[in-house]
Amino acid sequence: MTSQTANETRPSLAQAADESKLPTALCDLLEPGISVSEFRDALARAVTAVTVVTTNGPGGLAGVTCSAVASVCDTPPTVLVCMNRRSYVNGVIKQNDVLCVNWLSSQQSGVSDMFAGVGKLSMPERFSSGRWHTLATGAPYSADATIALDCRVVEAMEVGTHSVFLARVLATKTHEEEHRDPLVYCRRSYATTRPTAH
Ligand SMILES: Cc1cc2nc3c(=O)[nH]c(=O)nc-3n(C[C@H](O)[C@H](O)[C@H](O)COP(=O)(O)OP(=O)(O)OC[C@H]3O[C@@H](n4cnc5c(N)ncnc54)[C@H](O)[C@@H]3O)c2cc1C
Repeated sequence: MTSQTANETRPSLAQAADESKLPTALCDLLEPGISVSEFRDALARAVTAVTVVTTNGPGGLAGVTCSAVASVCDTPPTVLVCMNRRSYVNGVIKQNDVLCVNWLSSQQSGVSDMFAGVGKLSMPERFSSGRWHTLATGAPYSADATIALDCRVVEAMEVGTHSVFLARVLATKTHEEEHRDPLVYCRRSYATTRPTAH
């Protein structure tokens, strides 16, 4: 006979939120911690690079502004993208199994706004201005971005309100200007980086 501890039988909160669609407020009650606003206000002070994550394939053409993007490892070359499960693009990426992460340059704050839903343009309209091309997967990359990483999705996991996509990098494109300034987001505003004096 095997014995089980309470922790072994109890699903994690992330599992519970996913399996029974528990709202965030109920998860907060089950495991009190900081509030959503405290979490957001703290992270609003962190600097993040602004990207547009695109996809194309059987699910259609789509793209959305994302700052929750990070490098995971170089062997194999892997990045992660965190995307709200309510976002239309989330479902399209799950159908296409490919995505391209475009790190925007400081001249592209308008592109960031558009792909964040400002102006409520359709997906084809979002790609009708600017220089968009493709690399290995068919997901669009912006020729005006500082870097583009073209990827195949290898895993998607659900964590509370968001999907976390792990994606293998199949091709890269860097802008011809080596020192093109990046677009970053901090204190709920766009900015760019400058070298420090020392
Ligand atoms: C700096 C910054 C960073 C951000 N970082 C992140 C992040 O890391 N992760 C994250 O999840 N969000 C992030 N966001 C939010 C994100 O960019 C969007 O604002 C959010 O997902 C809402 O997108 P949306 O307005 O396109 O709405 P959605 O409801 O997702 O999409 C609406 C659009 O989808 C299209 N559409 C909808 N249904 C269909 C259909 N059936 N057929 C064809 N087209 C359809 C239409 O064009 C429509 O306008 C960030 C925003 C900013 C400004």
